[in-house]
Amino acid sequence: MQAFEATNFYFDQAAKELDLTENVRTMLITPDREVRVEVAIELDSGKIGNFIGYRVQHDNARGPFKGGLRFHPLVDQDEARSLASLMTWKTAVVDLPYGGAKGGVNCDPNKLSRGELERVTRKLIEKIHDIIGPHKDIPAPDMGTDAQVMAWIMNEYGKYEGFQPACVTGKPVEFHGSAGRDAATGFGIAIITREVLSRLKRLVAGTTVAIQGYGNVGSHAARCLAGMGARIVSVSDAYGAVMNPEGINIGELDRHVAVSRKVVGFKGGDAITNEQLLTMSVDVLIPAALGGVFDREMALAVQAGVIVEAANGPTWPEADEVFNQRGIIVVPDVLANAGGVVVSYFEWVQNLQHFRWPLEQIQREEERKLVDAFGEIHELGQRKGVTLRTAAFMKAIARVGRAHVLGGM
Ligand code: GLU
Repeated sequence: MQAFEATNFYFDQAAKELDLTENVRTMLITPDREVRVEVAIELDSGKIGNFIGYRVQHDNARGPFKGGLRFHPLVDQDEARSLASLMTWKTAVVDLPYGGAKGGVNCDPNKLSRGELERVTRKLIEKIHDIIGPHKDIPAPDMGTDAQVMAWIMNEYGKYEGFQPACVTGKPVEFHGSAGRDAATGFGIAIITREVLSRLKRLVAGTTVAIQGYGNVGSHAARCLAGMGARIVSVSDAYGAVMNPEGINIGELDRHVAVSRKVVGFKGGDAITNEQLLTMSVDVLIPAALGGVFDREMALAVQAGVIVEAANGPTWPEADEVFNQRGIIVVPDVLANAGGVVVSYFEWVQNLQHFRWPLEQIQREEERKLVDAFGEIHELGQRKGVTLRTAAFMKAIARVGRAHVLGGM
């Protein structure tokens, strides 16, 4: 099964509960537009670097297309399609006036110099500038891209369309970005974790947590959860994992990562493998890295009681079924990691108004959005006797479908 098929499987699970007709189903799952472009740049060596870029615009019935740009060796059309579709459902779950899109470039940013990365970014925008824009499609960071890449995008787009800071979100705070955007996804993960635990009559304080992935999302989630009193017993990155049953000192870990760029080698814990992290006995397991980490076998080995999906698409349907059968609660990506796009929305609003909000306001509004969305989805799930994932898709499909009806064909 490929990623887009998996997303559509989850869509269909919810569609069944909603009695969608086959034509409406096809209309909702089919991407609106798919663009594939050549991104050829001059490398520092003087040779030509050949890369392929993608932008899939899935649905814009509720507002402009919205979603990240990923620079990663696994980026391809199918992945972009799956992630674009997830963005449509994600923006609808948290009720933002957006549709869904996703894209990226098939490249390894770790092997590119800063200059090469800038040229890749500018070339991509040169190729797609006519299909993006503040009221058409608004890119944002994702794996392998950061605030600097977003700044280049704003500058490159401006060469064609003039000053339009709202054409991209996730920009540096001092360059038309928003306070709190950097930490938004991880902060949101902490809020959602608190909410799901509260439904189990449990507190974050004292809860044991393992986090797979220590990038932007995983590291901010660790900091926020540790700040709320959780015990972060294990974290990992692409090179390996560390574990400390007493709880990892996140401040010390951050100092180690700042120097070595890896969690591996951290003295405040023991080295373990990524697989050991995923299967250890903890209260909450947070996948915050690549998609597709849980297959059936892995799902059978997981010992956590709650999974909060910080990554996009970490769970294959075969694993989801095992989690459900085993009574493991899964908070789906479209709800759990929506904090990022929520604050992207605040950044866009601030850019359109040329006005800045303080951090406290951003965090307060983000928290309110996520708490409301979680409450709504949880209540729907209980009422219909379905999982949080199916409830989230049901809510999202109903909203997107309604927008299509109201807007007319
Ligand atoms: N890439 C992030 C996501 O998957 C953020 C998207 C955005 O802010 O538009 O949700």
